[in-house]
Amino acid sequence: MNSNSAYLRFWGVRGSYAAPYNSHMQVGGNTSCIEICADNHTLICDAGTGIIPLGNRLMKSKQNRELFIVLSHYHWDHINGLPFFVPAFSPDWKISILGPGDSPEDVAQAVGSQMKSPYFPVGTENWQAKIEYKTYPKHRFEFGPLTVRYQSVHHPGLTYGYQISVGGRIITYIPDNECMFMEKTLIQKGSKLNDEEKTYYDLMKDEEYESELELSRDADILIHDSQYTFSEYEQKQGWGHSCYLDTVQSALDANVKLLFLFHHDPAHDDKFMEEIRKDAEAIVQMSEKDMRCFVAREGMRIKIGNSSGA
Ligand SMILES: [Zn+2]
Ligand SMILES: [Zn+2]
Repeated sequence: MNSNSAYLRFWGVRGSYAAPYNSHMQVGGNTSCIEICADNHTLICDAGTGIIPLGNRLMKSKQNRELFIVLSHYHWDHINGLPFFVPAFSPDWKISILGPGDSPEDVAQAVGSQMKSPYFPVGTENWQAKIEYKTYPKHRFEFGPLTVRYQSVHHPGLTYGYQISVGGRIITYIPDNECMFMEKTLIQKGSKLNDEEKTYYDLMKDEEYESELELSRDADILIHDSQYTFSEYEQKQGWGHSCYLDTVQSALDANVKLLFLFHHDPAHDDKFMEEIRKDAEAIVQMSEKDMRCFVAREGMRIKIGNSSGA
């Protein structure tokens, strides 16, 4: 496949809840949704409010009427665009949906629950598209030219991070994850541990960090949770989100080429996000590594065949 034809586009970049405020419009207000398109195959990562305008665009397009949606988890900000996703209500479409769970029935139940009374008037039984719920025991599948694998990350409840390979490029999508979870927990518990426990946990910490970086290792593009500043993280440790300083450090350690800070806190307006960008860039420059770092913005489209084209 000619990887130059592949692209990814950000349709929603916020975490927690949508932020449709004038002060936030340069970065964007919709919650998590990314489109990855290759060879007429469309993979959608998460179904936050960003999937609503994507659905409207897909209805007008002439492309293949087959979609694959992968959900990181079922917190509202990752699924609450689905009740308004127009292709699901059209018989022309075939839509596969994968998310955390032991069986396709688990996925169907989690997706359908938010559309039941009294929360929503129209249930998934009204969807006209051919819907297939998926789980894969080996946590790996192929969709056209895309190879997708996934594993659990540090976030309350079962949550997946995804790695998508296409045309020799690697894209890693980890929208909700608390970076360096073990290390942070150790620091918090430090004074309560004896020497033997400290040695044991130190060893575990290194192994844990290695496995945490596994999905991101050598990624051409990493899209990662960076919701908090240092002081916000101190208040919210254990909530399952990363301080952007840790996100940048993890990406450097994983030898990532292009990092997109993602899942922005709805309290952070455009001005604040610019400060975060400058600070993140300064850390990258100090490292003298060849990584580039951006704040993910709604509407950004990146050619996957050319990772310098952001
Ligand atoms: Zn989230
Ligand atoms: Zn979440």
